[in-house]
Amino acid sequence: MLGAALVLSGCTSKLVDTNAAIQAGAAVVQAFTITDDQVASLCKQYMAESDGQNTKLPASNAYMQRLTRIMGKFKNIKELNVNYAVYQSETINAFASGDGSVRVYSGLMDAMTDDELFAVIGHELGHLKNKDVRDAYRTSYMIVAARYGISAFSQTAGAISQGLLGDLGQALATNAYSRKQEFEADAAAYQFCVANGVDPFAMYKALNVLMRLNGDSQTQSKVLQMFSTHPDSAERAARIKAMAEADGYRLK
Ligand SMILES: [Zn+2]
Repeated sequence: MLGAALVLSGCTSKLVDTNAAIQAGAAVVQAFTITDDQVASLCKQYMAESDGQNTKLPASNAYMQRLTRIMGKFKNIKELNVNYAVYQSETINAFASGDGSVRVYSGLMDAMTDDELFAVIGHELGHLKNKDVRDAYRTSYMIVAARYGISAFSQTAGAISQGLLGDLGQALATNAYSRKQEFEADAAAYQFCVANGVDPFAMYKALNVLMRLNGDSQTQSKVLQMFSTHPDSAERAARIKAMAEADGYRLK
C-alpha cells in the first residue's frame, strides 16, 4: 500500500525527531552499506510501484502540458536526469525521488499559479540537489531492512517485495526531512526563482497557499503532509520573505 506513502519525499516539514529512527537503523547501517547506485535502484523500483498505483497522466493531457511548459527545460539536476509527471488526484502534494522522478499531483496544480508551482518544484529539486532524497531513502531502507532481517542489499529486479516497498513508503513518510533541510530547500527554491526570472516571492506565496488550504476544513484533508503538519510553515515563509527583501525585492 503506497497511497499514504507518497508524502515520502514530498516535504513533510513537521518537526520530526529523526534521531530515534536513525538509531533504530544504526545496527544495520553497521552491518552493510548501500551505495549511491543501490539507492538509485531502490528509488527506481519504488517509483515503478508508485507510478503503477497512481493515475499518471499522458503527455497530451493539459496538466502535463502545463507542467512541461513550466519545467520542461530543467532536465538535469547535477548528474541526475529529471523526469516529470502528473498524478491525477485532488491531493495537494508533490515529491521528488532519488532516481530523478518528480511527481506533481493535479490538486496541487489547481491550487497554484505557475510561479508558485515553479517554486515548489524548485524546492523539491533542491532536496535532490542537496542529496536529501538519497539520504532519506538510505535511512528508511536501513530501518525497514532491519525489520525484515535483511543483511545485504540486493539489486536483483523483483527482489524487493511489495510489502517491503510499502513499509519503505511509510518509513519515508515518517522520516521527514529535517527543518534544516527544509530551510535549505526553500533557499534553493528562492535562488532557482531569482535565477530564472520568476517572482522572488513565489515560494513565500506558495507556502501561504498551503497554509490557507490546510487551515480550511474543506481542503485540509487533501493537503498531504507536504506542508500540512508543520508548525514551522509560517517561520519558513517569513524566512524566505526576509531573504528576498534582503536582496532588495519588494512583495507585490
Ligand atoms: Zn521539502
